[in-house]
Amino acid sequence: MQPKWQVYKFGGSSLGTSGRLPRVLELIAAAPRPLAVVVSALGDTTDWLLLAARSAAEGEIAQARAELARVRELALGRARPVLTTHGLRAFRTDLDAVLLPVERVLSGIELTRECSPRSLDAILHAGERISVALVSRALRERDVPGLAVDARDFVVTDDNFGSAAVEPALTAAKFAVAAKDWTGTVPIVTGFIARTRDGHTTTLGRNGSDYTATFLASLLRAEAVTVWTDVLGVMTADPNLVREASPVDRLSYDEALELAYFGTRMFHSRTIIPPAGLRRRAGHPQHHAAAGTRHAH
Ligand code: ASP
Ligand code: MG
Repeated sequence: MQPKWQVYKFGGSSLGTSGRLPRVLELIAAAPRPLAVVVSALGDTTDWLLLAARSAAEGEIAQARAELARVRELALGRARPVLTTHGLRAFRTDLDAVLLPVERVLSGIELTRECSPRSLDAILHAGERISVALVSRALRERDVPGLAVDARDFVVTDDNFGSAAVEPALTAAKFAVAAKDWTGTVPIVTGFIARTRDGHTTTLGRNGSDYTATFLASLLRAEAVTVWTDVLGVMTADPNLVREASPVDRLSYDEALELAYFGTRMFHSRTIIPPAGLRRRAGHPQHHAAAGTRHAH
């Protein structure tokens, strides 16, 4: 029997904090295969893109460009320690391919002084594409067959820009085609982003990469999703607010759904739905699910 897929997800702080990316690359290289990896934007990239959009809408195009420059500098700063000179040159080309169209959207917003939800998604989606370009290049330089995958090529959503809902049947059909190229590779997949049926870029809502990871796991019938993060697990309270907060050993899907529903930042509100479905299909009891996050650093 073929071994089952694993899905790893790395968030902004694992990828964007100085010094952590090499550890992420080691974790991926050493992971069981087949493995698919979902990444979100580096550090505060998404917030900076949001600021760029707001500045452009207020007519502050110089400020908007400055935010975009921050995005580029952070990406280059994280890339320099992990890429060769040749790889870095290629990565600069990747950055241009992602950011030049964003600059054009910002100029349009400045002209009209209006940023529609659709334009905003055309800006916000850039961060995840940058992460995918960086991580897949760095892996290939380490002889790990990282394959850059733009989730927009298979994740189809409605046109509720900014918080789009996945269309499961259309997504599954496109996924079956896209995943044919994945054999023998480690696909590195953009979290958070998708496309409408007629091709407009959408986003799944803030922290949406967790949701991308869980529904990708469901499409792959994966054995597990591991959300690598910088805390020890799902905590009894926010450790920044409550000193005695400690990680919980286990959390049922129902409890996790509840946490997501009540808006803990831990989970995007839809994250827990796909694995709960997988679990039910596999006939497992509801109440013995691992908490599902691991400490990366
Ligand atoms: N980059 C997006 C955000 O900041 C998605 C994510 O981090 O999961 O919300
Ligand atoms: Mg995040």
